[in-house]
Amino acid sequence: MPRPRFNRILLKLSGEALMGEEAFGIDPETTARLAREIAEAKEAGHELCLVVGGGNIFRGLAAAAKGFDRTSADYMGMLATVMNALAMQNALENIGIDTRVLSAIPMATVSEPYIRRRAMRHMEKGRVVIFAAGTGNPFFTTDTAAALRAAEMGCDALFKGTSVDGVYDADPKKVKNARRYESLPFSRVLADDLKVMDASAVALCRDNNIPIVVFNIREQGNLARVLKGEGTATIVQT
Ligand code: UDP
Repeated sequence: MPRPRFNRILLKLSGEALMGEEAFGIDPETTARLAREIAEAKEAGHELCLVVGGGNIFRGLAAAAKGFDRTSADYMGMLATVMNALAMQNALENIGIDTRVLSAIPMATVSEPYIRRRAMRHMEKGRVVIFAAGTGNPFFTTDTAAALRAAEMGCDALFKGTSVDGVYDADPKKVKNARRYESLPFSRVLADDLKVMDASAVALCRDNNIPIVVFNIREQGNLARVLKGEGTATIVQT
């Protein structure tokens, strides 16, 4: 079944997507490659905004398990996403793409505060808007922030860039004959607790009828291919 064309998309990049082959932090070659992927999608006429995670630097839940206060740890995680957002902004601007970083935690010297109308205006002007600091609230994740911003921006789809090319019935890195789903209903993802995004993000997308496209962001040129309906991916929809 051909996939519909999605004009305005929100791309969710986990912090790990920025690490490349490194075990931690930000790899400039990788952010440069991701920027080229985004440029290619823009050249094809798509409007893009971005939510970046922070897991390559700091994760609240993992830190809390080691004894950190959860809320402080979550704020630290959100600050990590701001670093990643600035890295992506830098990589995009290096290739001439106009961007704005809008942070859910106001940080006037490094970014604009998140104001929905302002974000909309930037998008209308063709800028790539990078949403930083998640939702601005502890106990959430950047997956939920991605679903929230996708709904607020009126995105046609949420593209979740991962290190596998879709959702499988078993872990394809461990099980040889694991089968990839071409498409899946939201209800199945939630009922079977399939690891697409966290449940609150999936429910938000379901309630607002925003398809989630899970695809491999590590493969060069894949974002543009999947946007054309060509590459392999799994689409989660109603
Ligand atoms: N975080 C938060 N509220 C949000 C988004 C993120 O508290 O709305 C914190 C949380 O501690 C999380 C960290 O920021 O562990 C980094 O985000 P996430 O784990 O979602 O990043 P990813 O896994 O996508 O790299």
